[in-house]
Amino acid sequence: MSLRVSAINNISQGKDLKGPASAKITALFGENVFTLQKARAFLSDEAYKSLLSSIKGSKKIDRTVANQIAAGMRQWAETKGVTHYTHWFQPLTGTTAEKHDSFFTLKGDGTAIEEFDGAALIQQEPDASSFPSGGIRATFEARGYTAWDPSSPAFIMEIGNGRTLCIPTIFVSYTGETLDYKAPLLKSLEALNKSAVEVANYFDKNVSRVAATLGWEQEYFVIDEGMFNARPDLVLSGRTVFGHAPAKGQQLEDHYFGSIPERVYAFMRDFENESYKLGIPLRTRHNEVAPAQFECAPIFEEVSVAVDHNTLLMDVMNRVARRHGLRVLLHEKPFAGINGSGKHNNWSMSTDTGVNLLAPGKTPKTNLMFLTFFVNTIKAVHDYSDLLRASIASASNDYRLGANEAPPAIISVFIGQYLTKVLEEIKERVGDKFDEQDEAILKLDLHRSIPELLLDNTDRNRTSPFAFTGNKFEFRAVGSSANCANAMTTLNTIMADTLKKFKQDVDVLIEKGEKKEIAIMHVIREYIVASDKVLFEGDGYSEEWEKEAARRGLPNLKTTPLALDAMVTDKAKHLFESNDVLSHVELEARHEIELEKYIKNVQIEARIMGELCTSHVLPASVKYQNILINNIKGLKEIGLKESSYANQLQILEKISEHINILSDLVEKMIEARKVCNAMTDTRTKAIAYESQVKAPFFDAIRYRVDKLELLVDDSNWPLPKYREMLFIR
Ligand code: ADP
Ligand code: MG
Repeated sequence: MSLRVSAINNISQGKDLKGPASAKITALFGENVFTLQKARAFLSDEAYKSLLSSIKGSKKIDRTVANQIAAGMRQWAETKGVTHYTHWFQPLTGTTAEKHDSFFTLKGDGTAIEEFDGAALIQQEPDASSFPSGGIRATFEARGYTAWDPSSPAFIMEIGNGRTLCIPTIFVSYTGETLDYKAPLLKSLEALNKSAVEVANYFDKNVSRVAATLGWEQEYFVIDEGMFNARPDLVLSGRTVFGHAPAKGQQLEDHYFGSIPERVYAFMRDFENESYKLGIPLRTRHNEVAPAQFECAPIFEEVSVAVDHNTLLMDVMNRVARRHGLRVLLHEKPFAGINGSGKHNNWSMSTDTGVNLLAPGKTPKTNLMFLTFFVNTIKAVHDYSDLLRASIASASNDYRLGANEAPPAIISVFIGQYLTKVLEEIKERVGDKFDEQDEAILKLDLHRSIPELLLDNTDRNRTSPFAFTGNKFEFRAVGSSANCANAMTTLNTIMADTLKKFKQDVDVLIEKGEKKEIAIMHVIREYIVASDKVLFEGDGYSEEWEKEAARRGLPNLKTTPLALDAMVTDKAKHLFESNDVLSHVELEARHEIELEKYIKNVQIEARIMGELCTSHVLPASVKYQNILINNIKGLKEIGLKESSYANQLQILEKISEHINILSDLVEKMIEARKVCNAMTDTRTKAIAYESQVKAPFFDAIRYRVDKLELLVDDSNWPLPKYREMLFIR
């Protein structure tokens, strides 16, 4: 029996339709997190205070205090049955990494004790040689270490009956270069904090800290585990490289916001509970547009914690799904022909005085503050749209961007009709006679129109990659499998830089004797004019927009290898270096790593395609070809005239044609790969993998396979079909 048939037969086995017992969320929330409340209970006053100030980033923790904190953490963890600890980090592979050590240790005299000291909390040396470093370690230093990041709380990971204390860390090489997603993210947050506080102080002297906030919306597919296992392409590359579209796709739009299938519902409640224990504040769950596609979203948090929570969530979802005989697909485009998955990054900035800097205010003065941050964001996106594009580039996201259901590869900003009008007015009104009219401008009347504005901006434009949605911007081009850190690091940094320049520009005018508010309005106007071309309110999926964007001179890089070029321009190096986020060495290394990831991904897909063709598709097709041949021979033999087997002949001809062309294409693709593999320059190789392997062969091969899928006897087809993966639950 083929894996496909047994998967279909077994689908109803071991179904958990009930899920976990219903419990109050507040009772679970943060149960497995070393929250400040728990720190208070398990730490001395001195250790607690020290931890608090290091969370705020103001103080380094010394070794004696670290010992106390470590001991307190261990005590708490042991009350929960924890035996091991690990430094948990986010290497550039895109997953998370951990290396477990036990508390258990033997003293010199042979006594066995449990111990966790400050040194083990603060620093650890994983064997870094197998993590990607983009050549940094080859040139500099072979090893790296993980260092505790107190701004993200420690937590306990439960896997089966195992319990591990996880210490969030950053990952750095001995020569000081960062090797993970988290370290530059923290630096970008610091850069943004600095510039944003200075600008916010124009309006309110009491602001002393600005934190960027992130609320991600995670889209994903769920399919049966048996079906998953019967698709080697899903197992190895995360997406189906073949599969004919089912007779029914998403055209009926009956899945979106429909009732959640029972089995998936049980899974959702289960992973939500696990997430609550880890302090992940999940809030919403629903079906998405495509069949078998779903979404969840939390309450927003400060970016660094939100990033950890998203990474953790992906891990938790993967693990919990297996308990339910399901598999989660986080790939951006697991199935052709239906929607792919994204991870909308809702982003804003909030002050320690409790103000959301992207929320329109209630008074003219707070409106001016809102306008300042709003227009600076637009300017930042305008000036650095190439970097934002690079920050979301990956082999898997290439299948989604611009595929008519996702934002295009062109970065533009949607702000809604109302704010478009406001910006237009400022452009026109502020002139030489600005002084006499400043009252009018400061009374922009935003506050009276807030309901209108919110209505205007919530969900009006789903086709924009970067949309203002009432009190935050939503970066929608981020891929569903991506670590949000990459996009957030870039966004924070370009914003930090733009605000820094804004402050300089305003100060110049103030020094010339201009009134503060007037100076601000002048610079705002200048920025609006300068970033005009990035604003777009129309349909981002349309062909007209591609043409219009080209006329405006907006970049439209559809493939990752070229999009990544933006990371290593002089402009990028200056930006990241001057804001102390990434050095040019780090940027070059990261560029190299992203290119390598791209190459490997395309290579894996190409290999699995070749393998599936030769060992699955062609044997099944040839078998059916033989059945037809024998049938025709038989009919001929018993003396029937040709018209009685004309149909069989026709099908046979078609099948034979597809088989021939398919084997030919597979051979040629292997040759093309060999040519690429011999290339030594990483960028050239990545471009070649795109233009000489992927572009000419992937769709062409798929076309033949999908035709064969329709022609070949269903009972002989080895791979689960789209209708089975997407609709049977
Ligand atoms: P939708 O975009 O689906 O209409 P919401 O606007 O309610 O839904 O929120 C979507 C996401 O945006 C949620 O994760 C929410 O927590 C987040 N969000 C709301 N306000 C902010 C903010 N100020 N900063 C960052 N994220 C936010
Ligand atoms: Mg949204």
